[in-house]
Amino acid sequence: MTVFGLLRSPRHVLFGAGQRRALGTLAASVGRRALVCTDARFSSTPDFDELLGLLRGAGMEVSTFTETLPDVPTGQVVECAELARRAAPDVVLGMGGGSCIDLAKSVTVLLAHGGRPQDYYGEFRVPGPTLPLIALPTTAGTGSEVTPVAVLSDPERSSKVGISSPHIIPWGAVCDPELTYGSPPALTASTGADALAHAVEAFTAIRREPEPGLSAARVFVGKSELTDQYALLAVRLIAANFHRAWSDPDDLEAREAMMLAAMAGGFALGTAGTAAAHAIQYPLGALTHTPHGVGVGALLPYVMEFNRNVREQELARIAREMRVPLQGDDAELADASIEAVADLLASVGIPRTLGELGLAEDKVGWTAEQSLNAARLVENNPRRLDAAGAERIVRAAYAGDRTGLRDEHEPLVAARGGSL
Ligand code: NAD
Repeated sequence: MTVFGLLRSPRHVLFGAGQRRALGTLAASVGRRALVCTDARFSSTPDFDELLGLLRGAGMEVSTFTETLPDVPTGQVVECAELARRAAPDVVLGMGGGSCIDLAKSVTVLLAHGGRPQDYYGEFRVPGPTLPLIALPTTAGTGSEVTPVAVLSDPERSSKVGISSPHIIPWGAVCDPELTYGSPPALTASTGADALAHAVEAFTAIRREPEPGLSAARVFVGKSELTDQYALLAVRLIAANFHRAWSDPDDLEAREAMMLAAMAGGFALGTAGTAAAHAIQYPLGALTHTPHGVGVGALLPYVMEFNRNVREQELARIAREMRVPLQGDDAELADASIEAVADLLASVGIPRTLGELGLAEDKVGWTAEQSLNAARLVENNPRRLDAAGAERIVRAAYAGDRTGLRDEHEPLVAARGGSL
């Protein structure tokens, strides 16, 4: 067995209820002039006022951008960077859901290197370090507080785009579960589904030959020993706490566990990468205007089924981590993991079909075709994902029928990287 591990992460990760109050000291240790990027919702909360007070109390000058929109349109990145230049910040803070953090990440790139967001789409296109960034998530989902990617909506493209670079990993992540307490059930469901998809897709991703050039050639390198540990932690926590956090918003223990799971999922995806469910969600989300997590959640069981025969051991492990009550062999447990994930997602209101998400039947082919544009995600899928394969997944997810998705002729351990 060859053990390979790669993990890229923030310099400071602070997790726990009330830990946001360490923000002033932490930010002042790295800068004097802070730009805070958030949205209208968070900027109107007492928590936001308290956080600004902490920054000012630590002797910092603070400027704010409070207009972030969900799924950040690229124009906002340009607008925020232009406004920010006058204040000349030396540290940027992203406070809010994944959208606010992704806006903040993108703004640090423009402030440090100029140009437009388009100049940095893809992997490794950010030429060097950016301003230090501190992320404070208010959702338990994207894991963006620890990842090297910012996801944006470009009105000139049919799908979302990503800026992926180790240079945009936040310098600090302050994860305070108290900031998620007000998350309504629908948001808890979509963000939790996103975190589950990160964990499952990272754990079942391709395993690449660990050549010494791998970490320099790709931002997302596929599964490794280190990302597996985070992915399994996330699966375990989500299985035990997702429905609790969704059905009882005041279950603080479950909220805490979900935020920890989201962060762990971020560590897993940030180095391993995600795969087919995320690739298909890009065009699906653009068409249906549904939250990112709802789309990836609806797709996840179908993608697991598609990959079933090349990831049997991993899926069996997922079933064990989810404490699926079944004494069986890997084959039985792998099947059970798909059912367990599908049932968990349905139990928090994630639709079981893409039809319920609003996808029109005549857009099935287009969605599949467009998903192949997300090359880094397509290449990360453990089973080869071509146009025909993507269409089979989308069609099955549209119809709500997983039968026939796995290829019985494909070897149990794929040539594209088997299990340890
Ligand atoms: P979001 O940031 O888009 O926010 C969605 C809505 O929830 C907003 O209206 C926001 O104001 C509200 N909200 C946020 N926190 C809340 C709270 N505690 N209580 C009540 N309302 C709250 O949602 P998100 O799911 O966190 O982020 C989604 C975005 O992140 C998408 O653009 C997605 O593509 C991207 N994403 C990024 C990464 C990454 O690693 N960078 C990973 C996955 C997804």
